[in-house]
Amino acid sequence: METLLIINGIVVNADASRKAGVAVSNASIIEVGSINPKAYPGAAIIDAKGKYVLPGGIDPHVHFALPTSAGNSSDDFASGSRAAIAGGTTTFIDFVTPRRGQTLQDALDQRKAEAAGSLIDYKFHLGISEWNSDIASELEACFEKEKITSVKTYVAYRESIGISYDELEQVMEIAASAGKLVLVHCEDGEIIARKRDELLRLGKTRPCYHAASRPPEAEIRAVEKVIGLSAKTGCSVYIVHTSTAEAADAIASAKRSGLPVFAETCPQYLVLDEAVYDEGLDDYKVLPYVLSPPVRSAFDRERLWEGLSDGTFDTVATDHCPFNLYGQKDQGIDDFTKIPNGAGGIEHRFSLLYTFGVSEGRFNLNQFVKLVSARPAELFGMADRKGGIEKGYDADIVIWDPDAQGRISAEHHFQRCDTDIYEGFQIRGKPELVIVNGRIAFRNGKFENIDLKGRYLPDLNTVR
Ligand SMILES: [Zn+2]
Repeated sequence: METLLIINGIVVNADASRKAGVAVSNASIIEVGSINPKAYPGAAIIDAKGKYVLPGGIDPHVHFALPTSAGNSSDDFASGSRAAIAGGTTTFIDFVTPRRGQTLQDALDQRKAEAAGSLIDYKFHLGISEWNSDIASELEACFEKEKITSVKTYVAYRESIGISYDELEQVMEIAASAGKLVLVHCEDGEIIARKRDELLRLGKTRPCYHAASRPPEAEIRAVEKVIGLSAKTGCSVYIVHTSTAEAADAIASAKRSGLPVFAETCPQYLVLDEAVYDEGLDDYKVLPYVLSPPVRSAFDRERLWEGLSDGTFDTVATDHCPFNLYGQKDQGIDDFTKIPNGAGGIEHRFSLLYTFGVSEGRFNLNQFVKLVSARPAELFGMADRKGGIEKGYDADIVIWDPDAQGRISAEHHFQRCDTDIYEGFQIRGKPELVIVNGRIAFRNGKFENIDLKGRYLPDLNTVR
């Protein structure tokens, strides 16, 4: 494999930035410092003058090819990982979501097969969709045998994959004794069922009522319960897609009291607000924003931004889960309960967070790297080889052009979806070049014809 030398750039890690060169060979970073090109005859030289050299992003929350009654989420592992690369993300964590009655091992094996088309490194959170003594022993067996560092649970969606708080407590006891992290989708299933039924009774079935069916209280109640369970069991918990100010406050206070509580939020909760659900909007305009939890008020949004700099949040993930407007989202145009929940974002995480976080002075580039790469690596067992530009680490590298400008649009995004919830957003900062496992995968807006993980990829630009 070709040796690459990145010279003249500013290397940015979570703890510090410095002017340094980076040498890459055989999928690893082999040197960081003052590189002498003469020591590497034949190496390809990449001049990163005026650019930042960042560790590739790790998105710890994505759903490629997620099966729903409206079909799979529209990005599969190939198209989704390709969009990830274009946005500066070189590793993702997806989910194993067993069907009720399916064994955990069977679900895990099935998901591994589905993920074979990925162009970048990945791992899985192991979902628990029902709870009984068989699942308990299967979970212990998976901890022994598989490289699983985290378990995913839902307290919403009780009719399909959600579990009760009592069952969650039992999951947490087992995870705590194995030293694993438990992720929780914190929206209280009972509150949602009550609100939903009330709206349907009143004939309020339009897409805009999705938000009213999942009020802030549903998240706040679940977050408080889960923090209580962490205190009781000693289990480390990671609260996914936090959307409200009060939940952020509860998380901050749990952290202050020393509980092993970790949390993420997502770009949709940072740059959008509840105006997208206005009753006066055409239903087709609202459908793309049907995701859970829904986006909240401008007040909540400001608290979430604070949480990125004050340490409330460990990570920014995307919960990438796009569905096409026509043929998928619009299956629920007359009944919001039938709209597949989710939206895409893996391609835009870096640019949105850089534009509205770093450029607007809310936090610096080191904090940016911490949120999008270093902390996800630490929390999910990859910190020995990912999350930083260090000798011996995987050569997943982004050369970031802080001056590049652009406009997000479904017309030219790489995500496979006919809409984009960030349509029209002006962004500053883009990946100029992305290296995946030691090979250049993306440069100046185009994919390079490369062989990742030993596979021949005839032309990435035509995978669509
Ligand atoms: Zn999710």
